[in-house]
This record gives sequence, C-alpha cells and structure tokens, in this order.
Amino acid sequence: MGYVELNVLNNPAPSAAAGPLALGIDLGTTNSLAAAWRDGRPVVLRPEGRSGLVPSVIHFGEGGPPLVGREARDHAVVDPRNTLFSVKRFMGRGLADVAQELATLPYTATENERGVVQLEARGRRYTPEELSALILRKVHEVASSALGAAAPTKCVITVPAYFDDTQRQATRDAARIAGLEVLRIVNEPTAASLAYGLDQRDKGHVAVFDLGGGTFDVTILSIEDGVFRVLSTHGDTHLGGDDFDQRLAELARVALAAEHGDELVRDPAFQQAARQAAEHCKVELSTQPEAELHLMVPHKRIAWRRRVARDEFERLTADLVERTLAACRRALSDAQLQPTEIDEVVLVGGGTRMPVVRRRVAEFFGRIPHTELNPDEVVALGAAVQAHILTGGRRDMLLLDVTPLSLGIETMGGAVSKIIQRNSTIPCEATEGFTTYADDQTAIDFHVVQGERELARDCRTLGRFKLRGLPPMPAGMARVAVRFHIDADGVLSVSAKEQSTGVSAHIDVAPMHGLTDAEVEGMLQAGYAHAQDDFAARRAADLRTEIGTMIQATEKNLNAGRAGLDKESILDLEDALARAKVAAAGSDVAALQRARDEFERAALPLAALLMNNVAQKALMGKSLGEVG
Ligand code: AMP
Repeated sequence: MGYVELNVLNNPAPSAAAGPLALGIDLGTTNSLAAAWRDGRPVVLRPEGRSGLVPSVIHFGEGGPPLVGREARDHAVVDPRNTLFSVKRFMGRGLADVAQELATLPYTATENERGVVQLEARGRRYTPEELSALILRKVHEVASSALGAAAPTKCVITVPAYFDDTQRQATRDAARIAGLEVLRIVNEPTAASLAYGLDQRDKGHVAVFDLGGGTFDVTILSIEDGVFRVLSTHGDTHLGGDDFDQRLAELARVALAAEHGDELVRDPAFQQAARQAAEHCKVELSTQPEAELHLMVPHKRIAWRRRVARDEFERLTADLVERTLAACRRALSDAQLQPTEIDEVVLVGGGTRMPVVRRRVAEFFGRIPHTELNPDEVVALGAAVQAHILTGGRRDMLLLDVTPLSLGIETMGGAVSKIIQRNSTIPCEATEGFTTYADDQTAIDFHVVQGERELARDCRTLGRFKLRGLPPMPAGMARVAVRFHIDADGVLSVSAKEQSTGVSAHIDVAPMHGLTDAEVEGMLQAGYAHAQDDFAARRAADLRTEIGTMIQATEKNLNAGRAGLDKESILDLEDALARAKVAAAGSDVAALQRARDEFERAALPLAALLMNNVAQKALMGKSLGEVG
C-alpha cells in the first residue's frame, strides 16, 4: 500500500558533531548519489522522508532554470526532445565515438570546434560537462538539505574503471563548473571495495560485478597494502536491468498484438505502460516466487494481466546472465587468474538484486558475493570513505552488523509490508508511504512485527501504536510516511507522519535483538517451511484488499459516471460488482483472481470516463501503493 519508493539506507541518527569535511559522489548514468562520513562510518545523505537518489536527468522547460532529477525525469515521456539523460555516455567523447549511442536517443547532438560533443535542448547547445555540472549541483543541494547546513564543496567523484583520461578530465571539469573541488577521481569498483573495507586486507584479488539499469561491467582488482590496482575490466555499455525488463515487456507485446493488432503495441502509451509493468514485475520477482505483469491502457480499454513465475523469468533472461558471465571469463583471462584466485566478490547495481544473478555469480567464482550493503549505494559509500581518508580521517575496521529478521507493519487484510529486510546493515533507516483505506478515516492503527512470514499473525509482535487526528479525507488521499530507524545499538524506532497536516506518532522498541540465536533460527526456518502456504494466504489477503478498494471506488463513482455510460456497461459493472462482493468473502485465490479480473474489465468504461487519477487507479484495482 506504499506510495513512496522504499529506500533502505545506511543512515544513522544525526550527530551533534561537526559536519563532514568532504562528500563522496557517485555520478551515475541513470542516478547520482552523495554520501559522507558521519559517526564513524559512511552514510548516504538524504533529506528526511526522501530518497537521496538524484536521477541523472535534466529537463529544459519553456522558461526558468532547468529541472534536474526526479522532476526532470517526469518530463521524459511528454517532452523527450528537451529532456536529456544518459549524459555520462558522452563525457569526454567526440561525435564519431558516440554515433551509435545517438541513434538510440531522442535528442540531437553536434560537435564544437574543439571536437567536443554538444547536446541540444530548446535551441541551445550544452556540453556534457555543463550538463553533468547541473546534476552535481543538484546532488550537492540534496546533500545540504540532508545535512541541514551547506554541504562541503570538497569531494571525491567516482567513474567507471574503463574511463580514459579525457573522460576523467571531463568529470573534473564538470565538478569545477558546479563549484566543487575534486580531491580525487576514484574508480567505481575501487569505491565499492572500499565500502566493504577490503582495503584492509594485506593482499588479495577482488572481482566487482556491476549490473546497473543500462550498463554492465566487471572489474578485477588487486589489493596490496591497502592499494588497489585495476588488473582488467570488461563489460557491455548496453546491457543492464532494462534488458531484463524488455523480455517481460515482450510477453505483453506478443499477447496483446495477437489480441488487438500491431497498432496498439506501437502506441507510445502502451510502450510506456509495458516498460513500467515489466520493471515492477521484475523487482517483485526478486523477493517473490511469482509476480504479476499488469498492464493498463484505459484509453484503449485495455487491462491485461499475466502471472509470471520466477523460473519462467529466469529462462527468458538466461542468455543475458550468460553474457555477464562471459565478460567475467574474459576479465579473468586478461588478468591471468583462475576463478579460485579471487578472494572477494562485490556486487554493485540494482540488477544484482535478482536472485539468479547472485546465484550464478556465486557459482562462477565459487564464493558467496558481498551483498550486505545496498548495491545502489555501495559506490557512493566507498567514495565517502575515500573522501574521509583524504581529509585526514582515520577509519577502523568497518563493522557490518545486520538485522537478523525482517521488520515491517501489518497492512490491510493482515498481510505484512516488510520495511527493513533481514540482513540489512545497521544502523539503517527505511521509509514507506501508506494511505487510508476508508473515506473519512481519522486514525490509523500500526502493528509493528518481526519475522519472515507473510501474514502478521505468524510474525512476532514488537509493538502497536495509533496515529490519531487525521482530518477527514477521501480514501487514498492521506499521505502517511512510516519511518523505521534502527540505531547502532539495535534499538528500533518507528514513526508515522501524515505529510499534509504534520500529525505524527511514534514508538520505540528496544532493544531489537531481544531474541536468542535459536529463536531467530526458528523463525527463519518457519519462514522457509511455510513459504508456499504463506504465499497463497498473502495472495488471498492482497486480492481481497484489492477487490475491496475497487468495490469502494465503484460504489463511489458509479452514480456520477452513470450518465456517461451506456446501459449495457452499467449492467455489466453492477453484475461484476455483486459477484466481486461474494468472492471477496472467500479465500480461494483462483476465484478471487477471476472475480478481480472480471470486475476490472467491467470497470474499464467507467475508468476511461473518469479523469481523476486516484479514482481511476483505484477502480482499476491498482494497489493504493501505486497511486502517485
Ligand atoms: P542502478 O543503475 O544501479 O540504479 O540499477 C538500476 C536497475 O536495477 C534497474 O534496471 C532496476 O530495475 C534494477 N533493480 C532495482 N531494484 C531491483 C530489484 N529488487 N530486483 C531486480 N532489479 C532491480
């Protein structure tokens, strides 16, 4: 039911001590992020209740300063020509180097008299350095608001190991334009290794496997007395998580082209919906044995669903994983090493959250890779370690203490929304958004639980609290940010705050490690043993909630929409509504699914009629979590 992206961050409580002296910045192709050294460890900098991640996207509007980050990304679909992304691919390059790249991107590029690429937006030309400077400035701004004071201008910036001198110089220039002082440019794989404290080994070999959204690389490093050396690097600048999405989107394309013709699948709204649905499904498959590919194009009267099992997804994408392993083989051969000579394997990039990637990489190198840190943050964290060392800081061995069990809250229907996953490094913090289920609901009960089971009744209760004083609002309108924070001592505090009114409530649960090892083990085993049954019970609970939301939305909107609908559609919808009510009383997953699908189809005409986004999505059975 969350509306905010879930972000698990290694973020300790703010300290009263003086702020950091330098930032570590991961200037990425799709996202950028800053981290800094605080309270004896590197932490990602993010303003309260928000992610620190800045999408590396710039939008030039009709007037005013350019938009950077999330707001800019929102314009990519409506105004692609004036929305620039993937700028990193052009850093320090000439037009001839990037001709292929340009063919796939929606914007125009030229070359200036010095052979530097310039990208065009709204009739003006910008060098990649200027554009990257805008991103860096935004990252600095986000860091300042996280720190509550102006962030330092000294920084360490990371670049891929394969960047040549010109590309590195272009990165330095971008920082200078942004008013930042670069202490050092560091290789991304080196930064990731630093984040794991691998520099503290006397000697050894590290493989860093980085699968991002659109790029893949693997780098073999040697360490000797704390100094890293790149032995080899291989990869594919056009292989990433997006390709995995494409395979799922293809399932939808083939099925819907057969049903509705080729014209539909060429529709940009369809393509966008397919991409989003595919990514959503892929991410869910990282934690669930099966997930739904759910695609809606209301103006075309299309609501399409298909369940995808993790096995099927892994078969569909097996060749992509093989390509990454082939690159590992080449990198090892260039470094003249055998897989057994690699002492540590580090995973970087969101794509490495896919279980199949973790499994295959572990098999390939014959050792379990490091996954304790968030793969999207590990490079920025390592840059912060380097920044700390360069400003005279000392660091002791990083202590990676982790939460033994997942923590979450009970949501509608008795399911558990896990907010901090087991094995997250502490201290850590995660925020997820929730909303109200009923109209005029003025209080929300929170039940905080611990465990791996899918239903709250099978987990251990850590505490309960109530958020009161919400103003009466329609269901789905409240914006309640629920924040879990575990400090370095393992004390969990949970707070809930409604964003528009500021009403809040909180509870401390201390200490979190109140369980013996045997109890933790028992709870983990119960999680595995009941995985199948739990999954069905959870599906039923979620489906009942989904149908409940659709029933409420239909009852609320049907009268208003009646005049605009033909008689047959109304009868259809009323019929489906009655049947959904019957089904919602049961717990048979197949019957619930059928009722939900029929209901969804019957509600399409009403959904297309309604302009209100929230009402439309609720009618379409979209979980409130996805209502933006
Ligand atoms: P990055 O460029 O490192 O931020 O990686 C982004 C890529 O990671 C995108 O393709 C995401 O869809 C993918 N990604 C993020 N989280 C997950 C997840 N839980 N499971 C699978 N892929 C993910």
